[in-house]
Amino acid sequence: MRRIALVFLVAVFAPSLGLGFLALRTAGEQRGILERQAAELYQNDTDALAAAIRAAVLERQRAFAARVRERLSTTPPAQLAPDFARALGDPAGAAFVVTPAGDVPAPADPDQEDAALRRETREFVRNRAPAELFPVPQTKTVPKPALGGTRADATAAAPAAAGAERKVQPQRNAPAEPASRLVSQIADFRTATAGDRDGVLARYTRNELELILWTRPPEAEGYLFGLALPAAAVADLVRAAFAAAAPGAPDACLAVLDETARPVAQSVPGFTAEWKRPFVASEIGETLPHWETALYLRDPERLARSAELITLTIILLIALALAAILAGGSFVALDARRQLVLARQKTDFVSNVSHELKTPLTSIRLFAEMLERDSAADPAKRANHLRIIRLESERLTRLINNVLDFARLEKGRRPLHPVALDLNPVVARTWEAQCIHLQAAGFSCTWSGDPPPYPARAVADAVEQILVNLLSNAEKYSGDRREITLRTTRAGAEWLVAVEDRGIGVPPGEELRIFHAFHRAHDSLASGVPGSGLGLTLADRLARDQGGRITFTRRADGGSIFTLHLPAAA
Ligand code: ADP
Repeated sequence: MRRIALVFLVAVFAPSLGLGFLALRTAGEQRGILERQAAELYQNDTDALAAAIRAAVLERQRAFAARVRERLSTTPPAQLAPDFARALGDPAGAAFVVTPAGDVPAPADPDQEDAALRRETREFVRNRAPAELFPVPQTKTVPKPALGGTRADATAAAPAAAGAERKVQPQRNAPAEPASRLVSQIADFRTATAGDRDGVLARYTRNELELILWTRPPEAEGYLFGLALPAAAVADLVRAAFAAAAPGAPDACLAVLDETARPVAQSVPGFTAEWKRPFVASEIGETLPHWETALYLRDPERLARSAELITLTIILLIALALAAILAGGSFVALDARRQLVLARQKTDFVSNVSHELKTPLTSIRLFAEMLERDSAADPAKRANHLRIIRLESERLTRLINNVLDFARLEKGRRPLHPVALDLNPVVARTWEAQCIHLQAAGFSCTWSGDPPPYPARAVADAVEQILVNLLSNAEKYSGDRREITLRTTRAGAEWLVAVEDRGIGVPPGEELRIFHAFHRAHDSLASGVPGSGLGLTLADRLARDQGGRITFTRRADGGSIFTLHLPAAA
């Protein structure tokens, strides 16, 4: 029994607990998993938007270069240079030209309100002031010698610190990229544009972003034409690119943030958030340094709710699976226990039955030998010997009948067909036959009851067998008071045939189990009473097959009452 419990613990209970624990841990990580998945998905959106904006800036540069070449097809460069801004007709930015001699005839000193800015741009393109630049595309990270050669030291390009802090802190970037990917360099205009035909430079002047689009057309060797776009023009350009890309993600707002992390364009009008803390964000790169495309969840709690639902479902499934495993395991363990008990009872049964067979056989042989030896003995003695031989063979028959009947019942029930009959002659026949034997053994036998007839529905042989078993038990488990009473009474729609004794009684707690096959409340060894544990089982089954039953009652002043209930005939 202990082994079954141990096996159950090791093979079922412990692994189930382990599995349950692992599954619960997985369930607990659902929110993280969901957020990671959403982040990966949304990161694609911000990356795509950043790429679209980069492409729009490059496209703007290409359009500018095409326009310059178109002008040069009709006007020679020396003639175009002084009047370039007007000829270009692009009011968004300040157009300028650098001649082969290094002069900057355009822009002419303007008197507009952004004069200071234009002056600074002019100083820069005249190569008088180096600045921190973000060249696009990134081709100038390796310093190159300055073309002019006069101020080589001052104009040599030097990379500035890369990997600076980002202005925007995304909550969940996949993969996490906390530091900026921007690479800038300190260089003057000539160095930054050296060696290329076309380009875009981004730089911050007075904390404002400025984009410089430039080209060296083949039609005008030595000339450099440029267009400086101030922050407002850049914002317009970005807004147009944003509208063309028409980005949209379900349940989210996409936005382009400037260097102060303020939205320049956003997909959901009127949406506000803590702009510096988007769900995911991508840097646009050197094209628009410190600008980012960002995505905000419109309902951040929704993710938590879905995760909760998944977690709950998983927990429920785990609980169900565990309950099923434990229930199944317990059932198997209980069944194994039952089988073990049954196996033990069957072993007991074999030894009990052998014992019961041997006892009457020994007496039969003993008395037969005595008869043989003194054949001329006194007739009373002979009659007694013969009677004992008969009684012992009857006991043998009863035992064998019980075992055979039980075996038959176990294989498949033999249906009984109760018929209407008078119970009185059936009971009387059995009672008288048993009483002779009981009285000889020193029992007082009393039969009291209602006056006959006892019309009932029953099978005579089965009733006889039940009574023989009950009376035999009353005899076997008798104590010093050898009194057996048979009581036949009518109770409602039933006839009751009660066998009452003054014997040793049924131990408390055994009242129901004594009806189980092979179960013996009084062990053969301890009580010295032989038995198979089948008498009551058979009696009960036979009673049930006739629509009746057997009940046990404890007698107040010692002894037992076993009552056969049978349906009365109409
Ligand atoms: P057995 O062959 O052991 O008598 P039974 O099925 O007839 O088998 O009885 C089952 C158990 O019920 C007995 O072992 C005994 O302990 C108890 N029992 C049956 N009848 C009586 C009785 N009249 N008085 C006390 N105990 C009884």
